Amino acid sequence: MSARDFSRLHQGNIVDFIVDIFDRRGADSYLGEAVTMSQHMLQAALLAEEAGAGDDMVTAALLHDIGHYTNEFPENALEQGTDNHHDKAGASVLAPFFPDIVTACVRHHVQAKRYLCATDPDYFGRLTPASVQSLGLQGGPMDETEIEDFRKISNLDAIVQVRKWDDTGKVAGHPTPPIAHYIPVLQRVVEAFAAKN
Ligand code: FE
Repeated sequence: MSARDFSRLHQGNIVDFIVDIFDRRGADSYLGEAVTMSQHMLQAALLAEEAGAGDDMVTAALLHDIGHYTNEFPENALEQGTDNHHDKAGASVLAPFFPDIVTACVRHHVQAKRYLCATDPDYFGRLTPASVQSLGLQGGPMDETEIEDFRKISNLDAIVQVRKWDDTGKVAGHPTPPIAHYIPVLQRVVEAFAAKN
């Protein structure tokens, strides 16, 4: 089933829709990095799994960059869905189907990099050259006021943790399970969210 066949996303097709994006678009380059987009997101998810993270966190790691594909999502799911704002765009398209902790990690993963650059002395040195370059476009390290505001955001620990998996999941040739491995995880998260909403 092609993503374009969906006239409307709902709880019953959102997981297939996401998997289809990985299948069709996963080989897209991840600008300036040594891995493709799907390799990167799968590596981040695997790091979460290896750390013993629960379904929500594995999902957040897996989907943190889905906003690069928001042009795949039907309708006017997002108003600000440009690739320049892939963090906010990704969170917008996931919000109807995934819990706050997942969307928060997606929404704030770029800001979390700015936060960590300002607060963790070792962090900057671990960024890839491409990530250092994009930092400038993203506003550079946070200033004191921004740090203070960022610390008030709920799910801060989760957001920071996903960011670290994001930064680490950029290793050329590092093997991961295929996206199919994560289908049951995504389904559990979507179903648990739907049951509560
Ligand atoms: Fe990323």
